[in-house]
Amino acid sequence: MSEATERYAAALFGAAQGDAGAVRAAADALMADTQRWNVLVSAATTDAEKKELLAGAPQLDGQDALKAFLQLLLEEGHLDALPEILPEFSRLALNAQGGMECVMTCARQPDEATQEAVRKAACKLRGAQNVVLQIKIDPSLLGGFVLDIDGVTYDRSVKGRLDRLARGMETAPGEDTLDQLAAQMKDALSGSAGDTMATETGRVIEIGDGIANVSGLRHAVYGERVEFENGTAGLILDLRRKRTGVVLMGSAEGLTEGSLVRRTGRPADVPVGEALIGRAVDALGRPIDGLGPIECTETRPIEHEAPGVVSREPVTQPMQTGILAIDAMVPIGRGQRELIIGDRQTGKTSIATDAILNQKGKDMICIYVAIGQKASTVARLREMLKKHGAMEYSIIVSAPAGEGASMQYIAPYAGAAMGEYFMSKGKDVLIVYDDLSKHAVAYRTLSLLLRRSPGREAYPGDVFYLHSRLLERACRLTKEYGGGSMTALPIVETQAGDVSAYIPTNVISITDGQIYLESGLFFSGQRPAVNVGLSVSRVGGAAQTRAIKKTAGTLRIDLARFRELEVFTQFSSDLDAETRQALDHGKQMMALLRQPLCAPMSVARQAVILYIATSGLLADVPLDKVSGFAQDFVDLLEREQSALIQEINDTGALSGAATEQIRTTLQSYKEQVSATWKA
Ligand code: ATP
Ligand code: MG
Repeated sequence: MSEATERYAAALFGAAQGDAGAVRAAADALMADTQRWNVLVSAATTDAEKKELLAGAPQLDGQDALKAFLQLLLEEGHLDALPEILPEFSRLALNAQGGMECVMTCARQPDEATQEAVRKAACKLRGAQNVVLQIKIDPSLLGGFVLDIDGVTYDRSVKGRLDRLARGMETAPGEDTLDQLAAQMKDALSGSAGDTMATETGRVIEIGDGIANVSGLRHAVYGERVEFENGTAGLILDLRRKRTGVVLMGSAEGLTEGSLVRRTGRPADVPVGEALIGRAVDALGRPIDGLGPIECTETRPIEHEAPGVVSREPVTQPMQTGILAIDAMVPIGRGQRELIIGDRQTGKTSIATDAILNQKGKDMICIYVAIGQKASTVARLREMLKKHGAMEYSIIVSAPAGEGASMQYIAPYAGAAMGEYFMSKGKDVLIVYDDLSKHAVAYRTLSLLLRRSPGREAYPGDVFYLHSRLLERACRLTKEYGGGSMTALPIVETQAGDVSAYIPTNVISITDGQIYLESGLFFSGQRPAVNVGLSVSRVGGAAQTRAIKKTAGTLRIDLARFRELEVFTQFSSDLDAETRQALDHGKQMMALLRQPLCAPMSVARQAVILYIATSGLLADVPLDKVSGFAQDFVDLLEREQSALIQEINDTGALSGAATEQIRTTLQSYKEQVSATWKA
């Protein structure tokens, strides 16, 4: 029923001034005069002719209000809506007299006595003065009846009882008298009995594209889980005055207009627990890796309020990614939200997965949420993590591209709920959302299907809130609240490097910094392609490992200066010595920051490389050899001076004695290998 129909019905009711019965009878009589009515609603008749016909209708004699109303309908071209307006009009009239409409669905036509008894029971139950029964016949109920009163359904059908028996909710089928029935209904309503019989229900108005519009469900709340007749779950995402928008979390098979929807009174949730570790699951926490069922005893709502200020602690512990360019220049702390942003195929996912690989043995739980990716890509990623032993502490939540927008919309929230479980147990969690651009697109799809008004780039107005309430859940908790942390690495894909598009600007402003990957750098072989100038970490500095903080020092500024110089001196051949030296140093640093995939560096390795590079000890190493030389040198230290490496890794600091030891070892090593450079 459209809102216009309701407005017309209300207008007619206002005009009828209490004599609703006569108005309805006159209107029905007019429609019963099929000859006249057909001409009135025919497209072939002109408006003037229709007006004349209406004025001359004998059924409308003495019904001036109705006549005026029909004239109005005619002028607005909605005369054919009258058959829909009248029932709504009668309902209004009935309500005004303290009456109520009630739909009784039976297997067979009930006799008068039963109808009267049901009417009485319903009156007693809802305190109404009179109840108008509408009878519907549905043989599939087998016996008994289902009563729909004002959005609440009382199921006393044989089918319903059998269903409840099967689910173990009812002990034995009994025959009740109608008085007992009314008493039971009352109990159920007041909550003192098990709510096996009375549930707030609605009916599907329309369904399609993974969305259902439902009437009834008056008290439903946003984010609540509902159940459809065929067992499919739904999530309430849109609340309007007369209808509720539900997103389907499963198949719509067998659902049609009029299908029953039941409230559950619970928010949508996912199973959480230790059993998830090492598994790949879908957005609802169901296994998709073929390794059998997952035994979780707990569930958590997918949407959960983010921890408040009181329960949060500043970020002070590092979350080492094992990627030199990032740990040195855009350090990430545990509990931080750092965005990874760049065009397609610039190594965004690789940074996140390398960070996951680096958490081995660091008592961190990693959750990788894949949104709208190919199932094969996710399977490959899982194999890769497994090969490197990273699945032992990881969970993959995947909502592949083929699964529809609702699953993609839910997936990051489900991942966050799983992460929150571990965080509340005092664990450190790393969660990757790959990627939020696709998440926003999925939400846009749902919103447009729910007919919300589109805004900028056709996204709904609350798309900022969509991501802020997700990312706000990442934080570090104080000791009293469990002391865990959740570090979030959301990924956003840009188009042609445009960071000022809607979703990128949103997520940039929500996160604590971004790692900007540049395709130019990526294709010139500088991988990971971190653009130093545009990347920033707003809170990680406080959490950076001391050894790296000390040695990285002015690296960011040096590199920014180098890139400027590089452009500036592109075409000049004769440069002064100082500029040339700055250029050479910059090139060397860029070479050292190149890092292959799946090769995370330990703190000690990073600290040693940064130390020898920034203190000028590599100045005489040829550019094409510098990276290999530095890596080989650290390998040598690891082999022959493992105590030193161990000390740096354990303390996270680089003492004066350690730097001295590195210097002397480097000198002798350089003498050994420098002979091969000339060749
Ligand atoms: P998409 O936009 O498709 O999600 P992406 O930005 O996530 O891409 P990746 O899938 O991580 O990019 O990487 C793209 C390609 O670049 C992959 O084939 C990967 O192997 C390669 N690659 C990424 N990082 C490096 C690196 N540091 N060294 C060498 N190759 C790399
Ligand atoms: Mg990717």
